[in-house]
Amino acid sequence: MSVDYAQLAVPGVRQLQPYVPGKPIEEVARELGLAPESIVKLASNENPLGPSPKVLKAIANAQSDLTRYPDSNGFNLKSALCAHLNVAFDQITLGNGSNDVLDLLARAFVAPGAEVIFSQYAFIVYPIVTQAVGGKAVVVPAREWGHDLEAMAKVVNEKTAMVFLANPNNPTGTCFSRSELVKFLEQVPKRVIVVLDEAYFEYVGGEDYPNGLLLQQDFPNLVVCRTFSKAYGLAGLRVGYSVASPVITDLLNRVRQPFNVNSIALAAAEAALEDQAYLAKACQINHEGMMQITSAFNALGISYIPSKGNFITADFGESAGSINQQLLQRGVIVRPVANYGMAHHLRISIGLPEENEQFIEALKQTL
Ligand SMILES: *Cc1c(COP(=O)(O)O)cnc(C)c1O
Repeated sequence: MSVDYAQLAVPGVRQLQPYVPGKPIEEVARELGLAPESIVKLASNENPLGPSPKVLKAIANAQSDLTRYPDSNGFNLKSALCAHLNVAFDQITLGNGSNDVLDLLARAFVAPGAEVIFSQYAFIVYPIVTQAVGGKAVVVPAREWGHDLEAMAKVVNEKTAMVFLANPNNPTGTCFSRSELVKFLEQVPKRVIVVLDEAYFEYVGGEDYPNGLLLQQDFPNLVVCRTFSKAYGLAGLRVGYSVASPVITDLLNRVRQPFNVNSIALAAAEAALEDQAYLAKACQINHEGMMQITSAFNALGISYIPSKGNFITADFGESAGSINQQLLQRGVIVRPVANYGMAHHLRISIGLPEENEQFIEALKQTL
């Protein structure tokens, strides 16, 4: 008798939908017969600046040690993070991207059947890690495309193990304020782990924008996740981290793979952290690119969700799918977000001025 191996998977995994990434340039070039150099990718919220020269130098230096296992404890990078963030060594967990840390959090704290709350249109990795461990997703309707924190607080009950918050949120770019976050945290029992995903933290400024690290004294159940993939420009190397209480951090380190961050990535992230001039430049380019693209949307009468991140999500109505296809034909890769329940929208990552221009030109031709 033949075995149906698909049925052997644990229930959560059987129902899992795989993550759909932005299309790689090579794939689009292959499929559409375009020259890779002519293609611009504005689909995965990557930093268009390319890596900092200081990072490239650190990577070159780290090559001589490739036969050794990486430092499992990530001593140098964690020490640099401690100094930079003003937190203690035993509060940091390094991950193979912050997605790794999101997965560790679910595995450490979400038992089968336990409830995990997140917002409609929130980052799709939250449902994936919840489902994988057999947790029950509780999706709270968004308010103006962003988190409705009041409604989210109301669905917390004795079965709730975890809440995922993204500030700013991807793919909508929406932010909540410090006072909204504090009010939310005050309503949530301290035994519920609140994960605050600050993947775009470095791009956001302003009085009103909360720094999760400054709230952890009052709210020990708050876990803050950040990454080197976005403003620091190292998406390809996969380094992210969480900052949490030492007890929570100890638990995450028990489920963590011993060598989850490789030695090149450790060295590169440490160098990236030192290059604050690069970071400032990345933020400036993002700010200008955001103006460039939103001005074009305004001129073309395209409505969009105001964004604090390095991407902007706009409403193209019924034709979003065909516009996406036509942009691809013209060598511009953007991100459809139908898998978020936003079939009329496309998400565009902010690029260099000439890349943004190529997108705007292709869009004008398409419309
Ligand atoms: C990009 C992104 C991340 C970061 O993912 P990495 O695994 O660190 O590359 C995390 N959360 C959100 C909301 C993101 O958009």
